Amino acid sequence: MQGSRIFMISLFVISACTAVFSEGISVESSVYIKALGIYLLFACLYYHLRIISRNGNTSIDYGINYSLSIGLFTGPLGLLIFEVIYRFCVYFYKKHTKTEDPDEFFHTFYNIGSFVMSNSIAFYLFHLLSPLFKGVPFGFWVVMLLLITVTSLLSDLFLITVFKLTGDIKTKVEAIDFIKTRSVLDMGKIAFTNGLLLLFLKEGKWEMLISLFILNYLVSRSFLSKSQMLQNKIERDKFEQMAYTDFLTGVFNRAYMDKKMTELNQSDESLGIVVADIDKFKRINDSYNHAVGDQAIRHFADTLKSYLSKDDYLFRSGGEEFTIIMRFRTYEECLNLAQKIRKGVENSPFQADFKEESISISYTASFGLFYYSVNDLLSIEKAYVYADQLLLQSKEMGKNRLSSREEPAYLHRPAEAVLTNA
Ligand code: GH3
Ligand code: MG
Ligand code: MG
Repeated sequence: MQGSRIFMISLFVISACTAVFSEGISVESSVYIKALGIYLLFACLYYHLRIISRNGNTSIDYGINYSLSIGLFTGPLGLLIFEVIYRFCVYFYKKHTKTEDPDEFFHTFYNIGSFVMSNSIAFYLFHLLSPLFKGVPFGFWVVMLLLITVTSLLSDLFLITVFKLTGDIKTKVEAIDFIKTRSVLDMGKIAFTNGLLLLFLKEGKWEMLISLFILNYLVSRSFLSKSQMLQNKIERDKFEQMAYTDFLTGVFNRAYMDKKMTELNQSDESLGIVVADIDKFKRINDSYNHAVGDQAIRHFADTLKSYLSKDDYLFRSGGEEFTIIMRFRTYEECLNLAQKIRKGVENSPFQADFKEESISISYTASFGLFYYSVNDLLSIEKAYVYADQLLLQSKEMGKNRLSSREEPAYLHRPAEAVLTNA
């Protein structure tokens, strides 16, 4: 902690000395004050568009930075004055809103030092490189891109030094990974924005300068709110998915079954509603343990799912009871499929670990199928009750069976059950 503070203050002192002993502000004072006012206004306006990332105890702000253009225009001293006023405005704002880091005071000096140092170097480089690129097509923009690369690398280097001293970065790999987080697109954006701002400043085109600031603000703001909206939607969808998923088996739960049934009540589909329940499941729990019982439930869900198409629905409607809604099939197709599933369950034992041994457990299940076309007189909720009654019949008839009934479309009253035994 002490080492990082010494580094931050040293960086500030060296950069401030460099600026103070430079050739002074290289534009008229009235022009400087005008530019300073506009830059401060927009820097403060942009402040709430920044993205914050945390590294240990320190938060790093990723915002748009305009220090390069004001630094190139006014020289290191002009930049120092801008940075001191701006960074202390941020400091007092953070203090006022109680959002400051524990070491915020030192961070403020660090920010001033880091930006003044890297952009002062850029200032001298600009004067060195500009003549070399004079006749080159897009030479000015190449220089701007080079300068942004240099300032970005320098500011990363300063940050890595701080993190090394605080212990938040320990290895070379971590340091390289940190540098890699910088986006080339962002660097291009900063280079072109600062390049345009510098040209407008040099030509005294104040309206263009302000328009560019406003344009940048609007574009950033609209992208930020779009991405926040998308992020919120992704989170909402994730929570909804969690609320409708059964944690043990990963299939839909009872809440989602109720929701889907309400939706399907508005359709005119023909549906096969199947209720399936493991036979003598209590025996699995009692003979082995609950973990093996859970495995049986998961295996049952996987087996049922393996027979269904993407249009069908599978819900865990109770402990070891599942409900299937078969769609876009005739009654005969539903009947054959349910029969196939019943046989499949009977013939696919699962492997479970019990008392340090791998054991094979077979089980059977009983099924009730009620088939009908959705209509105003018979809700799916009621059809589900009929399917459940048919399941009960299968249980009473000796289990490992399928009982089924079809309700003809013209007949919307409960009919006598027709049993189809296995
Ligand atoms: P039947 O053949 O008539 O269906 O009898 P059964 O033993 O399969 O059914 P019963 O309804 O009598 O008992 C179901 C048991 O399932 C009771 C409950 O303790 C157990 N159970 C419910 N949910 C879970 C679960 O998530 N995991 C486990 N391991 N057991 C559960
Ligand atoms: Mg059971
Ligand atoms: Mg049951």
